[in-house]
Amino acid sequence: MQCHLCLQEKDLKNSHIIPEFFYKPLYDGLHRFTVLSTSQEKKTKYRQKGMREKLLCYDCEQFLSSIEDYVKRVFFGGVKIRISNEKNFIIIEDIDYKKFKLFQLSILWRSGISKLNFFSGVSLGPHEEKLREMLFKKNPGEPYEYGCLLAMILMDKDQVLDGLMMQPDFIKVEGYRCFRFLLGGCVWLFFVSKHNMNFKFKEYFLNKDGKLIITKQIAKDNKLITGFAQDLKKAGKLNINYNQ
Ligand SMILES: [Zn+2]
Repeated sequence: MQCHLCLQEKDLKNSHIIPEFFYKPLYDGLHRFTVLSTSQEKKTKYRQKGMREKLLCYDCEQFLSSIEDYVKRVFFGGVKIRISNEKNFIIIEDIDYKKFKLFQLSILWRSGISKLNFFSGVSLGPHEEKLREMLFKKNPGEPYEYGCLLAMILMDKDQVLDGLMMQPDFIKVEGYRCFRFLLGGCVWLFFVSKHNMNFKFKEYFLNKDGKLIITKQIAKDNKLITGFAQDLKKAGKLNINYNQ
């Protein structure tokens, strides 16, 4: 079969779309994670393991795991970074721009090519091939190219929204086309537009100096991230009953 990344005919591995460290809080606690949809019709489902699909050859899989491993260490410790925890932001400095940005691109791209129903809301059109090329050539692009805005969702002042996943979907933020993911307690908002460089908060995208600004959003005040928590609440899914 053809590898989706290098396009060579090779044996394909059972690749994950979302790295498992994003499920870690629930793996630790309950050994399962919750899949939520903001649509009221779709029932909340539980899955035991990260969703997998035959997508990549061994070599491409190795490449993606190396950047995943780097990002995992940014979040969970193991690489030298500077973190300042401000009132409304968490600022991370000394990130390896290339590795972290390629990781972000890989999440978007993998979700776009996935045939799994969970990722049906991510349809990249011509961006799919552009992202594949960037990944294949290990070219992270400019910070505004497929820039990703990260927001940590706090349910209250200090309580982080944790262990939930939401089906990624398409939304418009200030007129920009975006795909919205909820991973590891953060909203990852990918800007998929030619005009990203005009976005007024583009300094929040990871920059080439390795600085990433993660905004803190209280769920009930959440405007920019356009209220996925409110959507979940409306759908009656914010109070999770783990015994369900
Ligand atoms: Zn390959």
